[in-house]
Amino acid sequence: EPGLYIVAVPIGNLGDITLRAVDVLKRCDIVACEDTRVAGKLLKHLGLRKKLWRYDDHSDEEARERLVAMAGQQAIALTSDAGTPIVSDPGFRLVRSMQDAGVFVTSLPGACAAVTALTLSGLPNDRFLFAGFLPNREKARSETLADLAQIDATLIFYETAPRLVASLTAIADLMGDRTVAVARELTKLHEECRRGTAVSLAEHYREKPPRGEIVLLVAPPSERAIDDDETDRLLVEAMRELKP
Ligand code: SAM
Repeated sequence: EPGLYIVAVPIGNLGDITLRAVDVLKRCDIVACEDTRVAGKLLKHLGLRKKLWRYDDHSDEEARERLVAMAGQQAIALTSDAGTPIVSDPGFRLVRSMQDAGVFVTSLPGACAAVTALTLSGLPNDRFLFAGFLPNREKARSETLADLAQIDATLIFYETAPRLVASLTAIADLMGDRTVAVARELTKLHEECRRGTAVSLAEHYREKPPRGEIVLLVAPPSERAIDDDETDRLLVEAMRELKP
């Protein structure tokens, strides 16, 4: 059936592709993607050869119009380099244009780094706010953090390895020394999720510079900072007292 199919793909472990994603990729006419090499690799792994169409942050109104016209006749799968398309990735304007033109649009759920990190973080999840990447420039980053400081929800940021320590330090300065979690290399061989105070994790990663892909989560202001070492100490003490 013609239309736009938003297809979530793995975030590092090829086993996380869904059965429906494979089915739609098999049956679609065109795969629209950010990076044709990355999409080509996934398709090759699935044993598929498809016409690839680049759609990225630089794609303009004209590119969208062409895709809308094509989607009226053919099935177009929109994939991401990793995870769920459109989440910190290009595509929302394309979805809107398709819908405005009366083209069929559907979305196939699947891996998303933000949600995977949230579930693994051990932080409250009844309310969360996904804030994408922090701005690069220090002033803009400080303003963003100050804006978000009072929000009573777990905050989720996409982060890069070289910036992690600076971000943790800025969080401690502008939001207080809250509990934070760093989820790294999710679904991959060296997956790691570390929870602690912003200051303690800044220290840890200053000594041991992180690698790979990172999601940074910040506990809501209402959650008292939990120092894991201190909790361990208290537990050991309490257990000692329990002994006859
Ligand atoms: N659309 C994607 C999704 O659904 O998560 C996110 C795209 S965004 C351009 C890429 C960022 O997602 C990375 O810089 C990193 O912060 C995060 N990310 C992607 N894969 C990850 C993984 N396996 N582990 C940790 N973070 C990941």
